[in-house]
Amino acid sequence: MAPAGLNGPPSSSAPGTAVSEARVAPVTEERIRAADEEPQNWLSHGRNYSEDRFSPLAEINTGNVARLGLSWEFHTGTLRGLEATPLVVDGILYATTTWSRVLALRADTGELIWQYDPQISRKIANRICCGPVNRGVAIWNDKVYAATLDGYLVALDAASGEPVWRVDTLVDRSRWYSITGAPRVVRGKVIIGNGGAEFNVRGYLSAYDAATGELAWRFFTVPAGPGGPFEHSELEWAAETWDRQSNWSGAGGTVWDSMAYDAELNLLYVGTGNGSPWPRSLRSPSGGDNLFLSSILALRPEDGRLIWHYQTTPGDSWDYTATQHMILADLEIAGDPKRVLLQAPKNGFFYVLDRETGELLSAEKYVHANWAERIDLETGRPVETGIGDYTDRDTYVFPSPAGGHNWHPMAYSPESGLVYIPARDIGWVFSPRGDTIFTYGAKSLDLPGNDPAVPETSGYLKAWDPLRQRLAWQISLPTIWNGGALATAGGLVFQGTGTGYLYAMDAATGELLKEIFLGTGVVAPPISYAVGGEQYIAVLAGWGGPTAMAMQGEEAAATYVNAGRVLAFKLDGGAVDTPPLRPARRIAATLSLDSIDRDAAEHGRMLYVRNCGWCHGVYGSTPMLPDLRYMSAEVHQLFDEIVLEGLYEAKGMASFAEHLSKPDVDAIYAYILTMTEEAGLGRGRSDE
Ligand code: CA
Repeated sequence: MAPAGLNGPPSSSAPGTAVSEARVAPVTEERIRAADEEPQNWLSHGRNYSEDRFSPLAEINTGNVARLGLSWEFHTGTLRGLEATPLVVDGILYATTTWSRVLALRADTGELIWQYDPQISRKIANRICCGPVNRGVAIWNDKVYAATLDGYLVALDAASGEPVWRVDTLVDRSRWYSITGAPRVVRGKVIIGNGGAEFNVRGYLSAYDAATGELAWRFFTVPAGPGGPFEHSELEWAAETWDRQSNWSGAGGTVWDSMAYDAELNLLYVGTGNGSPWPRSLRSPSGGDNLFLSSILALRPEDGRLIWHYQTTPGDSWDYTATQHMILADLEIAGDPKRVLLQAPKNGFFYVLDRETGELLSAEKYVHANWAERIDLETGRPVETGIGDYTDRDTYVFPSPAGGHNWHPMAYSPESGLVYIPARDIGWVFSPRGDTIFTYGAKSLDLPGNDPAVPETSGYLKAWDPLRQRLAWQISLPTIWNGGALATAGGLVFQGTGTGYLYAMDAATGELLKEIFLGTGVVAPPISYAVGGEQYIAVLAGWGGPTAMAMQGEEAAATYVNAGRVLAFKLDGGAVDTPPLRPARRIAATLSLDSIDRDAAEHGRMLYVRNCGWCHGVYGSTPMLPDLRYMSAEVHQLFDEIVLEGLYEAKGMASFAEHLSKPDVDAIYAYILTMTEEAGLGRGRSDE
């Protein structure tokens, strides 16, 4: 039995439902710039504008972390991925959950103060790549800013949760844009991008007046397609790096996650996403770098003009986004103090850039990467190996589109001098057959890129020395999809795992000093704050996101209900209760597997992977959504109505009538039956 509130949103979910009021002092630019002077708070997404995710709190330290235990937990009533970084202002914790809902909780007790539900139509569930996730809010003066999955930016009264203003950030509602990222506020402007580069949208970034919601500027990251206007002058020269004759040009480059701000240089840094579609050979047949895909952009926050850019993956064909977390740090390089920007984008190289000029200072591989040999320091460009070329053959490329590192934030400790990267080794078979395919077991295939250097698929926390560009230590994790990192002045690094643990490690050595089983996989990054002088570590648990959804269940997710919670820990806290066990799964007793149409099933396999596997798992099984191998008799009966008529739309299963024909759905159904059969569980199915 699930506890009350576990199967849906908390009972009072109307917009701005306030239990009591959260009165806090206004969060000003001065406060965020001086974030280190109030270590009890976590005022902005990466704690400060440098986004280093280093807490100066040291009450919890290497000597006593073994005493860490649960202070409180709040059940979010969600069953899917929770990715948010909570903010904490003067004893109030603000977080977001699925479907862009916002919560304000007392940071010392977890008591609900207010919640806001933008009540997003579940119809858009088939227009998003990666689940109805959200990575958090921004706070400025007396308002909380949240961006919603359906493309709106909302300003809420920080005290009551009541909406103050709401703007539509989308330039084209017919395109499949979505927002999962957290806004940032810089110089009185709320900055927000969006996602959707898997669906041929054109990337851009918008800035709104924080007080009024009025649009201040918009920067398009790629030039419009053939005949399109140049909205700003940067696009005129960016267009020269595209095949403007191609109907595919003008898509991709979405700004879906990372930003940072240098207040002294007054530069806003943003990372841009992949090309759309993935293969450059389709998108821009005559070649070109395709600016500003997979790039780091330095913009002037007043007007959004570009000051410099650095493209990590010119002409990207592998979903190698540069939207991964960026950290601003001050390093002494060859005796010279340098203001640097650190990034470990999906492509497998760790970059150190001069953030004043965008000049490349160094870049080395932090995971196995075979698409490029190295990054040339003279040109700043990758020296490609050719293994990544899939224009006329299948090839086994590392890293995969999941990235050597994805959105899960890194952390940088100025005390250890190390950057902590949630990383993974995993490859992918890219294929010229239209797009690309998920491929497990590729190590047994005779493919370019498949050589003795290919590592086992594995997840890590890597402690990277950015000065020497080398690994200081790493720990292997039992799954590839884990949480973000937090470093503290207590000499600790915290990370949640996909298998449902919170780890506390010695920041200098990686020694595991404490592990707490939560029973729920973690993808979100922990934070630290203090109330009444007492230090807390808080994290959201709720496994999900794109890679998790494509994978089969890992330890915690396969065993327990994926019960979303906000958990806060302190010294001498208590034990964590694990969530309820998953109900037993049974194949519908009425199902006959004797007459599967094998030809249809073979055709249905790719249709399934492309249309269904993103959410329901490549093998029909995922911890977050119903396991299609165990559909009930009713679902078997209603399969066509569910897929083509949107019968279960309210549950987040929108109609696929725009994408699939009736014969397509028959083929997918036949393929699901083969997965049911292959599960080997069909035998003895009379037990229901
Ligand atoms: Ca992508």
